Amino acid sequence: MNRGAFQREVLRIVVITVGGLAAGWSMDYPLYGLLAGLAVSHLFSLRNANAFYRWSFRTGPAPQDSGLIGYGTDRVIRREKTLKNRLLNQAKLLQRYNQGIESLQDGVIILNEEGHINTFNGAAARVLRLRQDDVGQHVKNLIRAPQFVRFYDKGDFSEPLQFELRNYVLQIQVTEFGLDQKIMLVRNVTERKRVEVMRQNFIADVSHELRTPLTVINGYLEMFNDMEVPTPMVRAMKQMKSQSERMTNLVNDLIELSKLESASSERSRELFSLSGLCQQVIGEMKGFSETAKVHFKPVDNTKFMIEGFEAEMHSVLTNLMTNGIKYGSNEEIFVSLSTSDRGIKVSIKDKGPGIPPQHLTRLTERFYRVDESRESAVGGSGLGLAIVKHALEHHDSELEIESIQGKGSTFSFVIPSLRNIDKV
Ligand code: ADP
Repeated sequence: MNRGAFQREVLRIVVITVGGLAAGWSMDYPLYGLLAGLAVSHLFSLRNANAFYRWSFRTGPAPQDSGLIGYGTDRVIRREKTLKNRLLNQAKLLQRYNQGIESLQDGVIILNEEGHINTFNGAAARVLRLRQDDVGQHVKNLIRAPQFVRFYDKGDFSEPLQFELRNYVLQIQVTEFGLDQKIMLVRNVTERKRVEVMRQNFIADVSHELRTPLTVINGYLEMFNDMEVPTPMVRAMKQMKSQSERMTNLVNDLIELSKLESASSERSRELFSLSGLCQQVIGEMKGFSETAKVHFKPVDNTKFMIEGFEAEMHSVLTNLMTNGIKYGSNEEIFVSLSTSDRGIKVSIKDKGPGIPPQHLTRLTERFYRVDESRESAVGGSGLGLAIVKHALEHHDSELEIESIQGKGSTFSFVIPSLRNIDKV
């Protein structure tokens, strides 16, 4: 507040009014003089107010006045200038952000609360063939791949989605911000996927190629088994046999793992009984070890019919049970089924030496072993739990490991209720 402007304004009113009064007085009409002075000063203020009004609509120049109106106009002009500068800076900043987003190799799409497109960059336009007039359209009208529509409708954006669209393999990551608005990052991973497929094919091809010579070697070793061999050779023959069996296991596991990695998530699922499969695998454990003791705790007569891939689930149960027998004590394991809000839980428990906690998160890595020398003696391929992890992913499930050193380990997984078709 400028006191000077206020004082000048008051002074002006007083001077004009007193002037009018004095003039009226000298003519013997002091009241008329006072009224005339008041009217003139009011007219003066009205003229300034009118000038201000016209200026505010940009239809006239800014009022030139030393009083309140002039001072107020000055303040508005100054504030307008500051705001203009601020807006200009914001616009420049926005432009820089837009340039940054535009220069990204990855596609960026910004969606509003309802899923309509607010804006997108050039990379998104190229890979998804978007046009400027697609702004305002719903994203599902523009990306119609069924996998994307299912992913979007499900609303669980914790993991990115990878899917094929025309000749591209795309990865979409959705991040929510503000009030339900979304940023979609679209990455073209076609080349990465091609290299990955090449790697998988290479491993699968090499493994297949190794199978034939291994079968021949195993055949000859079997033949020597029935023959008399010189005593110094007995130990060597034994070692050759165990190593060639190890290699056969390794090759078989490699083939199984590459099949799991390349399996399409769109394959049709089968309906099978989880309880029945557990019983079948428990029966097969006799072939693995005649002395193995497997205790089974089902839930009454519940079959637990689930939708999935029976051969893969068979592999999961076989790997977990053979591990329990191999690494547990007395070849004794406890297999149990139970239900919870999350779904059907399968647990395989042993009373072995357990696993130190620092290893637990790494066990499902390929060829990861807790104790290299001990495990070589046991003869595992180091791929069993990697196979389990992949196969469980295909059933929307994951491996949970609990282990207490000296007391044993429990490997479990939960098949989500959605896959449980019929509990009877
Ligand atoms: P392998 O074929 O060598 O058994 P896995 O991938 O099945 O390989 O297991 C990885 C490692 O996890 C094993 O080498 C072993 O060290 C550890 N492991 C797996 N199951 C158990 C278990 N029940 N008890 C203790 N250690 C285990």
